[in-house]
Amino acid sequence: MGSVQRLTALILGPPGGGKGTISKKLLKDFNFLHLSTGDVLRRHVRDQTAVGKAAQTYMIRGALVPDNVIVDLVVAELASKGHVPRLLLDGFPRTIPQALALEPHVSIDVVIDLDIPDQTIIERISNRWIHAASGRTYAYDYNPPKQKGVDDVTGEPLVQREDDKEETVKARLEQYKQITTPLVDHYRYQGTLATFSGTESDVIYPYVKAHLDAFLAGRSQE
Ligand code: ADP
Repeated sequence: MGSVQRLTALILGPPGGGKGTISKKLLKDFNFLHLSTGDVLRRHVRDQTAVGKAAQTYMIRGALVPDNVIVDLVVAELASKGHVPRLLLDGFPRTIPQALALEPHVSIDVVIDLDIPDQTIIERISNRWIHAASGRTYAYDYNPPKQKGVDDVTGEPLVQREDDKEETVKARLEQYKQITTPLVDHYRYQGTLATFSGTESDVIYPYVKAHLDAFLAGRSQE
């Protein structure tokens, strides 16, 4: 029996762009170990480890955790997992120094770059309204409340999360671009970048899957 073919992928995508949905499908179809630095950091914060304590001061400000902290964390996390034939990196590397620091440890085969129009994300997020007390969420485009601005169950007013306001979303998208563009250029130059453009995860996903399948087929012929 042949062993599982190795594959290390990195997924990049703007906030609100469906990266979570695509990642979930990839985990299922390719049996990846999912390494999300956001999740690992949140676990450390919850457990109040030394790394967690150092990281949380940055995280609550929405700032990036320093490169050396995050690189050590990822290297330790990978070492603790032993042999990982299939790895999906999510949220790391996020800067060029991180990318360069990772290279001696792990070589990324495919970078999945989700290219979703800002307007799609802004519309989707700013259509989201919630009932604060229960957390019930409505989307004005596909599951609207019976009466505009009012919770179906309690009749109380709906509000928008501070994070979901158009100006906040736009600022986050700008920040994403500023941070990610050098990284995208780096991987394009390296020849590992695969960009997938579109507005719906369900439409984009088959192309992502086909790309990875083709990569694995190519590798099996080496
Ligand atoms: P978001 O996409 O909102 O940034 P994540 O779950 O990916 O959410 O990350 C949450 C926080 O963890 C970030 O705001 C940042 O403070 C920290 N973080 C995660 N990944 C990295 C990274 N690669 N480099 C630096 N900080 C990171």
